[in-house]
Formats: sequence, C-alpha cells, structure tokens
Amino acid sequence: MERLNGAELFLLDMDGTLYLGDSVLPGALEFIRTLEKTGKRWIYLTNNSSRGGADYVPRLRQLGFPCSEEQVYTSGMATAAWLKKRYPDRAVYPVGTVRFLMELADQGIAFTEEDPAAVVVGFDRELTYAKLEKAVHFLRRGAGFVAANPDLVCPMPNDEVLPDCGSICALLTAATGREPLYIGKPDRRMVDTISEQTGVPNGKIACVGDRLYTDIAVGVNAGAISVLVLSGETTEEMLNRSKIRPDYVFPSVKELGARLMSGR
Ligand SMILES: [Mg+2]
Repeated sequence: MERLNGAELFLLDMDGTLYLGDSVLPGALEFIRTLEKTGKRWIYLTNNSSRGGADYVPRLRQLGFPCSEEQVYTSGMATAAWLKKRYPDRAVYPVGTVRFLMELADQGIAFTEEDPAAVVVGFDRELTYAKLEKAVHFLRRGAGFVAANPDLVCPMPNDEVLPDCGSICALLTAATGREPLYIGKPDRRMVDTISEQTGVPNGKIACVGDRLYTDIAVGVNAGAISVLVLSGETTEEMLNRSKIRPDYVFPSVKELGARLMSGR
C-alpha cells in the first residue's frame, strides 16, 4: 500500500463517490476528516459541466464537506484553459447552461454566432432545438468541435440518469459526421494542469472515483494513482470485464479512509 499512503493530493470525484444526488454517502465526511488528519490535500474534481466551480462551494458546504474555491476544479475550467491556448483571439459558439457560459466567460472566452472558431458543448440541461440547429450549421462549415466531458449519462438517485454531454455530442456526431475533442476526464490535461498549479507530481496524486472510463482512466492516462470506489456506477462484474484497471479498489471512500488511517 506504500503508493497510496505516499499520495499527497487526492482528486475526488463527487457524484457516486462522496454523495448521490443530495444524499451524502455513508463514511464520506469521515473520509475527508481522515485526509485532514493525515495531512493530505484534496481537490473536488468534477466532469459535470452544467454547474460552475463557484456553485460547488455552497453545495459541498451545505452537505457538510469543508471546501474553499481553490478546492474545486471543473471540466468547464479545463475547457476554458484549453480554448484560450488553442484559439487565443477567436470567439466560440457554446452549447451549455448559463453557468457553463459564465465559467468560460470568467476566463476570458468570448461567444459569437458568426463564424465561431469552435462549437463548445457542455452538459446542457437548458438545451433547445435552436442551439442544436446552430451547432450543426457551424460544424458542417468546419468549426472546431470541443466538448467539456464525455460522460453519456449523469447518475441520479433511485436508479435514474440524465442524458449528459457525451449523449448531446452523439446527436451532433450523428447529424454531422464530426467527432468532438473531449477535454474533461479521462483526458490527462486536468491532472497535468492541477499538478502544475499545486506543485505535486502526478505520481503523488491519487484520482478517486466511481466511474472506470473517466475517473480511473484519467489516473491511468496521467500516470497518477487510481482508486475505484464501488459506491456509484461500477459493479464488481463491470470491473471484472473492464480493460481499465484501477490501482486500488474499495467498496467506498469509508474503507479508503480507514486504510489511510491505518497507514498500511
Ligand atoms: Mg462519479
């Protein structure tokens, strides 16, 4: 277990890892206290591009999780950072929530409906047909195709799911033949950026989450430590069938915390 105990920074998925909808998962608050006690740092890392980073601070605090603004990193922030590098002086056409647009605008991204450099898609819970129509128009004329996160669905309580960014992109791909570049997990850029900002090398970062193709894959892709919890999407059967292999598996963060506490 040396590698796990040597981790200095934990990147924590939220949905299905710390809570499910509005219910905190058993042991999740104690797990955070264990990180505090053992001197570990942590960042709440989310692929959810329907909300802004600032939305998570009150939400997490209300659920009982200690949280500062610097402790939240979203796929929207990562997308804005990438757009600034790739298209420094160009405006884009966004397909996303008001909060997603604010997240991009906060970092200096401009929007246009005339010859955008790219169509930028998020988990748009305010999606309209008019937006899809415009996105298809621009994509067919060669605009770039960038998406904040590849998740097909967003898990909800009572075994419900919401169609997420990946499903919206699948529709646009069906209509245009174009494939998006996905910026969020599992793209290693999110971990690389955080490593740069915190000074913690990737090998001392642990990516914790419930979803193999995003949370675990980003850890594998970035050369970080990957920790799967079985409290959300992934079942033992899905894990056994998967080619994506986590470094560690726990029933939930409760057992992960207990392991860190024991120091083994
Ligand atoms: Mg999750």
